[in-house]
Amino acid sequence: MNEKLLNRIEEILVLSANKNELIEYGRLSREIGGLISPIKLNEPLGEISLRCIKKNFPPLSVIVVNQQTQRPGEGFFTWVASQMGYKNLPQSEWEDFFIKQKEAVFSWDWNEYIENKASNSGSKAVNIFSIEDLNNRLLDKSYVIGEETRYYILTIKKFLETTSIGPYQYHMILLENHQKISEGTLEDENSKQLLTPSKKKGLELLFKHNPMVHIHDISMVHYKQDRQKNSPWAKEPASSLRSLYNELENTRLRNIVDHDVEIEKQQDATNYKDGEVKQYYGNRYERKAKNRLKAIEIHGTICAVCGFKFEEVYGELGRDFIEIHHVRPLSTLNEAVEVDPAKDLVTVCPNCHRMLHRNRNKVLSVEELKKIIQFDS
Ligand SMILES: [Zn+2]
Ligand SMILES: [Zn+2]
Repeated sequence: MNEKLLNRIEEILVLSANKNELIEYGRLSREIGGLISPIKLNEPLGEISLRCIKKNFPPLSVIVVNQQTQRPGEGFFTWVASQMGYKNLPQSEWEDFFIKQKEAVFSWDWNEYIENKASNSGSKAVNIFSIEDLNNRLLDKSYVIGEETRYYILTIKKFLETTSIGPYQYHMILLENHQKISEGTLEDENSKQLLTPSKKKGLELLFKHNPMVHIHDISMVHYKQDRQKNSPWAKEPASSLRSLYNELENTRLRNIVDHDVEIEKQQDATNYKDGEVKQYYGNRYERKAKNRLKAIEIHGTICAVCGFKFEEVYGELGRDFIEIHHVRPLSTLNEAVEVDPAKDLVTVCPNCHRMLHRNRNKVLSVEELKKIIQFDS
């Protein structure tokens, strides 16, 4: 919102209040040169009253009235009233509420308010979020703080500290080698507390793009135009980035492990009844997911049977694409047995994986399938 215009409206209201006069929406609009039409005055008036309420002053906007009714618009009795703690004020009480607030505004000493404002006006608030400024800073890579990393998760605060009317917005940008890969937005009507959720959403964007990403390849930097330092960027400390990363590990794992669980499940279905299988996977899924990730770390993303590597053929698209096979079928494991990713799991391509499981009654071993392939070629 335009701060100058807001100040101008405030001045007009204070003048009116000092003379114990109501002012009609139409006249107020004319006095600011028609820059805001009467029906759109709700928003700036709400903002002005909100500032009053925060300073424990009566709500100035009560004196702005409709020409016919000589009462404020509905927004005053709903939104402004609720900001004052009168939520769901019954319509039968609107009149009393109006008279009470009007008297409070008329009898208030607004000189104090004006003086207070004058002393604050030196702080020259920036009023508009500048996308241009942001774009320039993306171009000159001023988000690079310290060591350069492959990925950057940027959070952009798209409102100013002084803004007091929502909706509030955060924007997330994911960069890989300084190229934009994806982006997202978070918005809330009432709350400005969007930084933590936007950090998480930014990480989720990255995990979606590359679930195998290593923490050392990530920087998270936060852009806040009105930051009280020389740069609008501030880097997320390594320690808190790590705890966020750990907190979201399950999200990350879910992106790696989903499709290859299905085929193991099919095998198990012959040994378990439906409900049992469900419960089995329900209870053990997360731990298994971690084991699978561990297996990829140990065995790499190369097929243990045929040596196929998706990245070599499919390039970037195939990076980190592989399935995990249990050397010992899951159905032979009971709750007490811990899976050892080094011994019990192997990485295989989907083709070989399906061939291993081709015979429903007997899962082939990696060695057996290897022999079959060698024979044929
Ligand atoms: Zn293979
Ligand atoms: Zn398998």
